[in-house]
Amino acid sequence: MFGFLKKAPATARVSLLTLTHAGETIHVTLKRAPTARRFTLRVRFAARDAVLTMPQRASMQEACAFAERNAAWIAVRLKRLPDTIPFAHGSILPLRGVDHLLLHQPEKRGVVWTEPLNDTQVDGANAEMALCVSGRAEHVHRRIHDHLKREARRDLEDAVTRHTQTLDLAPRSVGLRDPISRWGSCSSAGALNFSWRLIFAPPFVLDYLAAHEVAHLVHLDHSPKFWALTHRLSPAVERAENWLATHGAHLHKYGATP
Ligand SMILES: [Zn+2]
Repeated sequence: MFGFLKKAPATARVSLLTLTHAGETIHVTLKRAPTARRFTLRVRFAARDAVLTMPQRASMQEACAFAERNAAWIAVRLKRLPDTIPFAHGSILPLRGVDHLLLHQPEKRGVVWTEPLNDTQVDGANAEMALCVSGRAEHVHRRIHDHLKREARRDLEDAVTRHTQTLDLAPRSVGLRDPISRWGSCSSAGALNFSWRLIFAPPFVLDYLAAHEVAHLVHLDHSPKFWALTHRLSPAVERAENWLATHGAHLHKYGATP
């Protein structure tokens, strides 16, 4: 077992460590935290790596040694992460939080559509709805991906429009991204961006995130005033935050390229 360090850009104050354990490569991201009193490790689903948080005064050598001592622990936890689910025939995708069975129907007309699933279609499918896609097999991934992004954009634009109207603010366009560590953002220029993966979350979660970012148009911080405004816009702040803390990482498992 050995480790070597690669310096990330200086501004990020993050270093990357690569370990090998039982023939497998393990990536560890090292982060210094002024408030950390000891080393702590966690694994991240989307990045499929481990994050080692280290106290401000700890040396890189100590951090490497700590990561190496815990390589077996990291390896086990990375193995236990849920599998990725491709956009392919037979996959189940939680569209707006409702399980949809993906059915490839090459001969049908249309591109992508949803319909109730009658149980004669597929045995053992634990879903009441089908997300159907026509055309050739090699186009299934892209067609589903495009469709889900379009649906996410529509839902987010609707929610943002509703919340900006409540606050009498100018209309906003919505940008879509696929970030690993955040669901939405608001720039100081007022540009709103969201993860398209929110289409897999129940509507109250998407609506809360739209409310959260719209509230940032007024307060670009997380002050008590900001939270008061967010609560005014969204009735489900705690419920949505809890949902994201519990299920958020799973939204990253859908759509791995087959
Ligand atoms: Zn925020």
